[in-house]
Amino acid sequence: MITAIEFRRHLHRHPELSFEEVHTAEYIEQCLDEAGISHSRIAETGVLAKIEGKGDLSKAVVLRADIDALPIEEHTDLEYASENCGVMHACGHDIHAAVLYGVLVRLAEKRDFEGTIFGIFQPGEECNPGGASKVLAEEPFEGYNVVAVIGEHTDSSLEVGELGFCKGEFMAANDELRFWVRGKGGHAAMREQLNDTVGAAADLTTAIICANDDKTVVSIGRFIADGATNVIPDEVYMEGTLRTFDEQNRYATKCYIHDIAITLDNHYGTTTEMDINEGYPAVVCDDALVDKAVAFAIERRLLVKMLEKRYTAEDFGHYCVKYPSLFYRLGVGTEAGRSHTSTFAPDERAIEVGIGFMEELARRF
Ligand SMILES: [Zn+2]
Ligand SMILES: [Zn+2]
Repeated sequence: MITAIEFRRHLHRHPELSFEEVHTAEYIEQCLDEAGISHSRIAETGVLAKIEGKGDLSKAVVLRADIDALPIEEHTDLEYASENCGVMHACGHDIHAAVLYGVLVRLAEKRDFEGTIFGIFQPGEECNPGGASKVLAEEPFEGYNVVAVIGEHTDSSLEVGELGFCKGEFMAANDELRFWVRGKGGHAAMREQLNDTVGAAADLTTAIICANDDKTVVSIGRFIADGATNVIPDEVYMEGTLRTFDEQNRYATKCYIHDIAITLDNHYGTTTEMDINEGYPAVVCDDALVDKAVAFAIERRLLVKMLEKRYTAEDFGHYCVKYPSLFYRLGVGTEAGRSHTSTFAPDERAIEVGIGFMEELARRF
C-alpha cells in the first residue's frame, strides 16, 4: 500500500489547477481502492470516501482536505518537484490530502469507531465559487447527523508539532468588488462641459476605505483612469476586496458602498456600474469542538497556539454555515517559507503529526 509520504510526493510532482484535478482524483481513487476504502466522485474532480464503523451509522464525522494547486512555476530543488510546468502545490494542499489519506487508511484498518466517517478530497479551494460549495450542492450528507466537519491548513509560522486554533470567527468572508465609473469625459480645462469621472472614482475610493474598522477590511487595489494631463476619460475602472466576519456586517458594508456610489453619481453626473462577486463565507469554528480539540492536542503533547482571527479566506466557510465545524492550522516549520510562493517547501514530518491528530479527532468526535 502507498504510504502517506509517497502519496504526498506523487501529488506534489503532478499538481493540477482548481477544478482540473483529473489525474489527482484518479490517483486518489486508485489509492483508496488499494486500501479497501469505498468512494464515489463528487463535484466532478473530487472524491468522497466513506468508512462505516459500528453502532449508529447515521452519526457522521466529515474530514475534509483540498487538492488543488496554484499557477506558480516551482523553484525548489526537491527531488519530487512539480513536473507540470507553471503549476505548483504552493499552498500545502498536497499535505492536507496526504494527511486525510493516512487517516482514512488507519481508520479503515480497524473500523473500531462509532458511526460513519466521510473523507472529502475537495477540488477547487483556490477559486471562486470554491469546490466546497459544489460538494455541498450535491447534498452528500443528506440523512446523516453530521456532528463535526474537520479541516486543516498548513502554517509555516508554526513549527512541526505545533497546532493553531481559534474559537469562533477565524477567517473572513471575501467578496470581490469591481466598479466602472462612467461619464462624458473631455478637455480637462473645460470642466463645465464634462463629468469628472476621475474625481467621482477618487471620492468613491476614499469613501470605501473609510469603511475599514475592527471587523471590516476593504481595499481598492486597482484604479485605472487612462486620461492625460488635459484629458478626463469617459471611464474609470476600480477593483478591490471586501473582508468581513458576519453576514449582517457583510451586507451592511455592501449597502454602504452602493449608497455612496449613488450619492457621488448624483454629485458628478456620472453613472457607476458595480459588480460584487460573492466569495466564501467566513470560517467560524464551533467553540465546543475547539475546546475538545485543544484538550486532545495537549493530551498528545502537541504544542497549542491560540491564534488571532485573520482576514484571509477559505472555502471551508461553506461547511461552517451548514454544520458544526473545526478548522485548525498544522505547523510545517518556519523553514518552509511563505505559501503561494515558488519556493514554499513544508516539512514532511508534519504529515505524521497531522495524521495522528486528525485520526484522534475523528475517533473521539
Ligand atoms: Zn492558497
Ligand atoms: Zn490553501
